[in-house]
Amino acid sequence: QAKALGKARCEIFDVGVRLEATSRLRLETDLRLALERQEFKLYYQPIVSIATQQITGFEALIRWQHPENGLVSPLKFIALAEETGLINPIGQWVLREACRQLCLWQAQTLMEPPLTVSVNLSAQQFSQPDLVEQVQQSLAETGLDPRSLRLEITESAIMANPETAARMLQQIKTLGVQLYIDDFGTGYSSLAYLHRFPIDTLKIDRSFVNRVDVDLEQLEIVRTIIQLAWNLGINVIAEGVETSKQLMQLKALKCDYAQGFFFSKPLDSEAAGAFIKQSLSPQADAI
Ligand code: C2E
Ligand code: MG
Ligand code: MG
Ligand code: MG
Repeated sequence: QAKALGKARCEIFDVGVRLEATSRLRLETDLRLALERQEFKLYYQPIVSIATQQITGFEALIRWQHPENGLVSPLKFIALAEETGLINPIGQWVLREACRQLCLWQAQTLMEPPLTVSVNLSAQQFSQPDLVEQVQQSLAETGLDPRSLRLEITESAIMANPETAARMLQQIKTLGVQLYIDDFGTGYSSLAYLHRFPIDTLKIDRSFVNRVDVDLEQLEIVRTIIQLAWNLGINVIAEGVETSKQLMQLKALKCDYAQGFFFSKPLDSEAAGAFIKQSLSPQADAI
């Protein structure tokens, strides 16, 4: 009887695995069609100067408007897109769409300095030999000033192949585009090593930032990162700022910029446009 039970369990398990494989395959098929069906959308999260509390730009974050599953988070499909190589055409779309949208906002608002947009690059895209041409093409096609574009890469994408990365980053810099290190502190590289690459800005990972107001050790880590970045002439953005207390701590540590739910969640393009307008209008509390 135990044996029969074992066998039954085994079959149940097999069905489970098959289901999982089926839904994965389904996801992959859907993902392949998503680009031509225009199901991807960009959301935009404001990045704010801590000193002036003014918006300086946005990070572009992809979403997938799935016909049945609703709005799908990038955490659910970027890994699969990387495995299948689909990240390259998707990433190219993101780049062009972000440049196009920012150009539109710049023409509508005439801010000085102009608004910026940062775009996430996966490690896979980073190993594409024609990445630099892709970036150049997006800029040329949309007419965006290269100085308004920033590319976000992770430490691990650089460290996977430091020599190629150094060449690639140098070429991107030559275009006039700035480079951000995303999720800083979660990789294994030291800032002293990273300084050998032409990095403009570090984004301190949310996991440090969201305990900066309650955990002295986290506070010291963030203080050290900011000081070292300052010494190296690199700017710092704190990711995932959720409370005014966190913002106060970051201000005291002389962090340059902040991004997080405290200011705004990622917004669709319409809401982001409204956010810009509102931040340009005379302060309500000044009346
Ligand atoms: P990321 O580049 O580190 O982006 C920041 C993530 O933190 C976003 O999640 C954002 O919504 C979230 N976030 C921002 N502020 C807060 C906060 O105050 N609290 C909390 N809890 N979360 C906050 P999202 O949009 O789900 O994106 C997740 C990741 O997916 C991104 O992390 C990035 O690695 C990847 N990703 C998003 N868009 C793209 C893309 O176009 N291309 C590529 N290759 N990756 C992308
Ligand atoms: Mg990012
Ligand atoms: Mg990040
Ligand atoms: Mg991340």
